[in-house]
Amino acid sequence: MTGRIVVTINSTGRQAASFIRVASAVGWHVRAQVRSKDGLVAEELAALPNVTLFEGPLEQTGLIEDLFQGAELAFINTTHWGDEVCVGRAIADVAKRSRIKHFIYSSMPDHSIYSSDWKALPLWANKFTIENYVRQIGLPATFIYCGIYNNNFTSLPYPLFRMELQPDRKSFVWKAPFSPDEPLPWLDAEHDVGPAILQIFKQGVRRWGGHRIPLAFEKLTPTEVCALFSRALSLPVTYQRGPIDILVPVPPGYREHLDILEETLGQKGAPYFGPELDRPSYPAEAVDLWQGCRGIEEYAREVFPVEEAANGLRWMEDGAGVEEGKGEEDWGRGEELGEGGSGEGRPVTPGEVDGSARMGTKGTESQGFFVGNC
Ligand code: NAD
Repeated sequence: MTGRIVVTINSTGRQAASFIRVASAVGWHVRAQVRSKDGLVAEELAALPNVTLFEGPLEQTGLIEDLFQGAELAFINTTHWGDEVCVGRAIADVAKRSRIKHFIYSSMPDHSIYSSDWKALPLWANKFTIENYVRQIGLPATFIYCGIYNNNFTSLPYPLFRMELQPDRKSFVWKAPFSPDEPLPWLDAEHDVGPAILQIFKQGVRRWGGHRIPLAFEKLTPTEVCALFSRALSLPVTYQRGPIDILVPVPPGYREHLDILEETLGQKGAPYFGPELDRPSYPAEAVDLWQGCRGIEEYAREVFPVEEAANGLRWMEDGAGVEEGKGEEDWGRGEELGEGGSGEGRPVTPGEVDGSARMGTKGTESQGFFVGNC
């Protein structure tokens, strides 16, 4: 067998799927865990050369051990579904026993360690706990910190990154709690996570062992993001600073996460990556790894309208806006959903709609509800 053998988990997610496509293309062998083999992205991955899918939840006895059989590398992105810390530790333990040569973990900061004035964002701090465990057990590891995904944006009534179509149906407003003039880190997860991870593996653990890499290819203020959207769409797009509206069912814990995000990153102005990684080398560090990145403007021009169309929205064709008969009231109000739950009248996500949404893996497993983003 030629090519390197690499493990991924949550493989239908945007980060892992991006990496798998690239790894497969260069002849590496991917041992990819998916919760189910059903769904557009799982089917796409199954059809790629050199990709073996391991179906089942990460909690399933023996699954992690099977996944790591014969592997030398791992790109691990845990998610907030289930007990994230428990799953992360179990994976790290098996990786250690399997003598993995390079373990790349997709981490996020715990803001509470830097200032008593900042709270930990619950869905991020778990990742930092796992990072610390990986360091503690001495795995040869690198930690990436992902910026805000370009494709969080949608005109559907999702919280935080709603690009809201206005009643004139020819302009958008993005309302969020971030300062309009403070830069934020941006990343096109589907386009750019894969090539960057491949480069980190190729440059090796000697170069990157122990490092934290802010994976963001652009540093843009909300005002600049709106200006780029506006140029790309040839429509007025404005930024409005304001509280986060939760108008759709959200996964457990996400409401608290958003409340703390609003306070810590919004009102208190804590840097997204935390002060240590908010360094001048970002976004140059990521761009050095991979120069072919897709910026916000290209995303807004080439991809956003396609994802919107896949969601049944028609503003890009004739200014008709939200599909007829689908007002905000039809999406359900902001209750919390249990794991695996689904909401009547919930927003569909691009991965669910038809083949044209293949490029968009928001809501990759067709659970039929908002699976949370930043
Ligand atoms: P995704 O949001 O594209 O897909 C969701 C993933 O969650 C799927 O792979 C699915 O398999 C997995 N999952 C596991 N258990 C599940 C369950 N019970 N129900 C539904 N889905 C389940 O995934 P992604 O974007 O590759 O990774 C998500 C992680 O990325 C989150 O932890 C998030 O905090 C982090 N992150 C996101 C952003 C952003 O801007 N969106 C930025 C930085 C970090």
